[in-house]
Amino acid sequence: EVKDLLVTFGRKKAFRPLVETRAVDGISFNLYQGETLGLVGESGCGKSTTARGVMRLVEPKSGSVKLNGKELLGLPIKELRPARKDIQMVFQDPYSSLDPSMLVRESIGEPLDVHMKMNRQQKTERVAELLRLVGLPPDYMVRYPHEFSGGQRQRLTIARAIAADPKILVLDEAVSALDVSTQNQVIDLLEELSQKIGLTYLFIAHDLSVVRHISDRVAVMYLGQIVEHGPTKAVFDEPAHPYTEALLSAVPIPSPKTQRSRERIVLAGDPPDPSRVPPGCRFHTRCAYAMDICRTVMPQPTPKVGGGEVACHLHTSGPMLQGRSLRIIS
Ligand code: SF4
Ligand code: MG
Repeated sequence: EVKDLLVTFGRKKAFRPLVETRAVDGISFNLYQGETLGLVGESGCGKSTTARGVMRLVEPKSGSVKLNGKELLGLPIKELRPARKDIQMVFQDPYSSLDPSMLVRESIGEPLDVHMKMNRQQKTERVAELLRLVGLPPDYMVRYPHEFSGGQRQRLTIARAIAADPKILVLDEAVSALDVSTQNQVIDLLEELSQKIGLTYLFIAHDLSVVRHISDRVAVMYLGQIVEHGPTKAVFDEPAHPYTEALLSAVPIPSPKTQRSRERIVLAGDPPDPSRVPPGCRFHTRCAYAMDICRTVMPQPTPKVGGGEVACHLHTSGPMLQGRSLRIIS
């Protein structure tokens, strides 16, 4: 349960005021047991920083992060260890968690040394079991990471991440570096694992088609804030926020029969510098629907039809209230 999470970065330079970047600016979301929550948005919008803040790999400035009701922020690092065991991360680059000089057995077995007291034989058995779980033969444990393909290495990383029986996996662009067919295989594996061992996922990605496939719910981030969230189908079929609409318009349509045609919306320019966010709605500099109020007043999250929330004035004071739809169908 994440509430009002604030993560800032700042550097004080001599004779100059502190420039503070609110990389994650007051984010709230829940992650329910057994579900997959997709976190999407352009690179630099604060997705990874959100995850790192939750894990306290960066120290949030304020807010609350509760795991099964227990507050994690402010806990002494020593007492954080059980939570760290329960939440594991998988990154894009498998080399970041697989030491190239270590045998697979040692890499995967390392979390077992940290979190569980196992003797040598128990450890070997557990590593064999983990390899089988991720679809690799147990005798691979006596090989080195460079002997594997990208997809296999990501399987090894996942095996390592689940070694100490976590409850939550945070997957930060975990399949982004893989080709499409390998991506699908790894996603199938993740789905299988969630069934078999009851894992919960926070799935961070910029690739919306992958997110759609795996997520039960989706949250869309823009410049450090969540602008819309809801059940995956609702968000993809009826995006309520103009930014979501623009992001989705770039996703290839899987089947022309089941999908309405989408006009490609090209967003003007890059996201603004996070250390100088626009006042009012942060998206107003790129939004085709921007109104006067958008330039001064920050829109608050409002419940939307079909579940979830959206933070956009169109839904509180604008044309959406008169029953008009956002989408322009070509
Ligand atoms: Fe666009 Fe205004 Fe909605 Fe922001 S609040 S997304 S600027 S319409
Ligand atoms: Mg990132």
